[in-house]
Amino acid sequence: MRASQFLISTLKEAPADAEVASHRLMMRAGMIKKLGAGIYTYMPMGLRVIRKVEAIVREEMDRAGAVECTMPVVQPAELWQESGRFEKMGPELLRIKDRHDRDFVVQPTSEEVVTDIARQDLRSYKQLPKNLYQVQTKFRDERRPRFGLMRGREFIMKDAYSFDRDAAGAKKSYEAMAQAYRRIFDRFGLRYRAVAADSGAIGGDLSEEFQVIAATGEDAIVYCPDSEYAANMEKAEALAPSQPRGAATQPMEKVATPGKSTCEQVADLLKVPLTRTVKSLVLATDVVDDKGQPVKTQVWLLLVRGDHDMNEIKVGKVPGLDNGFRFATVPEIEAHFGTKPGYLGPIGLKQPVRIVADREVAVMADWICGANEEGYHLTGVNWGRDVPEPVVADLRNVVAGDLSPDGKGKLAIERGIEVGHIFVLGTKYSKAMDATFLDEDGKPKFFEMGCYGIGITRLPAAAIEQNNDERGIIWPDAIAPFTVVVCPIGMDRSAEVKAAAEKLHDELAAAGVDVMLDDRGERPGAMFADWELIGVPHRVVISDRGLKEGQLEYQHRRDAGATKVPAGEIAAFLK
Ligand code: ATP
Ligand code: MG
Ligand code: MG
Ligand code: MG
Repeated sequence: MRASQFLISTLKEAPADAEVASHRLMMRAGMIKKLGAGIYTYMPMGLRVIRKVEAIVREEMDRAGAVECTMPVVQPAELWQESGRFEKMGPELLRIKDRHDRDFVVQPTSEEVVTDIARQDLRSYKQLPKNLYQVQTKFRDERRPRFGLMRGREFIMKDAYSFDRDAAGAKKSYEAMAQAYRRIFDRFGLRYRAVAADSGAIGGDLSEEFQVIAATGEDAIVYCPDSEYAANMEKAEALAPSQPRGAATQPMEKVATPGKSTCEQVADLLKVPLTRTVKSLVLATDVVDDKGQPVKTQVWLLLVRGDHDMNEIKVGKVPGLDNGFRFATVPEIEAHFGTKPGYLGPIGLKQPVRIVADREVAVMADWICGANEEGYHLTGVNWGRDVPEPVVADLRNVVAGDLSPDGKGKLAIERGIEVGHIFVLGTKYSKAMDATFLDEDGKPKFFEMGCYGIGITRLPAAAIEQNNDERGIIWPDAIAPFTVVVCPIGMDRSAEVKAAAEKLHDELAAAGVDVMLDDRGERPGAMFADWELIGVPHRVVISDRGLKEGQLEYQHRRDAGATKVPAGEIAAFLK
């Protein structure tokens, strides 16, 4: 490929809304272009990365015996009514109407459509097991799309669905996918962890998330360095015995910083970066009765989890302050606070309020409001008011240093980006949609299903979070838009340089290397800056001076300086 022919559109500055490195760098490198909130064009440079991710995923899915199809992005609502998701799913599901006023959805995943295929086309146990997958556009009307491709509204997902005769078969299909996922994520060359996850309503142990380790990750993962134990925080906490951690550990200052948003202030106080989702909000209140006497039994702990879907809000009592720790349902919250949890505050507690925070918690006095995130909006914060000293206490059920459940060592906690998720679905969809096959005994049985997702467009963002420096992106070879860039100096002036550059480009291209020849005639400084920003891992510089000595200059994106390589050896050197 030649740069003059390709579309290269690097930027000096990142847009103001780009909070994390991957978003900033993908914008600056001209990989993506924003069209609307959470909606991006994959520009030619970015698309090359995405295509490489897809190719690896396809290869390993095919190797594991899955078969590819493509299901429609726009799907009739009838199927979604059958499964119940049309009603049950919240506003994340984009619902649209056609000219006849019929309801449709834009797929956030495709369980309904694939189950419909199975009930029509998989009639006999002899056709099982089957695993159907697609690499296709998804839409989720995320409450807060952000971080570029990391949490888009429109994005590409690989989603696979397995169909088995029985639970044992489903487990086997799941395990084949678990293995394929390990191969896939190994090939990307990223540091990741497979962690046990909750399979939600379905129950059972068969659910794992694949988390790329990154400080800016939205998920907390708990692992034991001395054993295999690894789980996401939700799962770890669900399994851990409730461990009251005692009271206040740290006083919070009551300061109002002019010019800072409430969210920023709370984040400052809690010393948590605002660059990631603050996932749980703990509000504990020492409510007093009419006479000003504390009412200990009304100490409430409010936790907001997941990506703040309203139906994930849970309320419980504070361990250590009360003898129980309990999650409550949304209706309970509504009943207790007398408010819809679309907006949680003020909740009528005009009393001195004790402020208790956990790792990623926001809190406040006087009025209690939503989470430390825009959209939930903390209002009514008045740090300057005369309220009792607020305190930050550690309320986590699981903290670093706890004994791991397998007893093999101490737990550690780090942050991750969920790039893949696999789980056994059981008969949830097959029962709801009456999807059966004829088993060996001639009787109809419900399919045992599993589903397996990979965030194709989230992956490059995760890769960048792990691999960047002040100059730009550093792509792992496997997913670099180009693996080698040939940078001729003075190509327009020197026939020798031009000939050598073109020769090297053609040779590498013929050998199947993804090579880019920068024939734009840019000055060396600007040319190098572009490719360092874009993150091409291998660079070869060709100059008159070097050619006179029979040398080219090679530099890996991570190298501090260039290495001279004899011109005749460079192609072999790179392959
Ligand atoms: P998250 O917890 O980040 O919201 P999820 O658990 O809702 O993700 P799944 O339903 O498990 O996502 O979907 C499978 C995969 O699709 C995820 O592991 C993730 O890599 C990717 N994905 C999900 N939502 C998005 C999004 N908004 N933008 C980009 N990728 C996404
Ligand atoms: Mg989600
Ligand atoms: Mg998730
Ligand atoms: Mg998930």
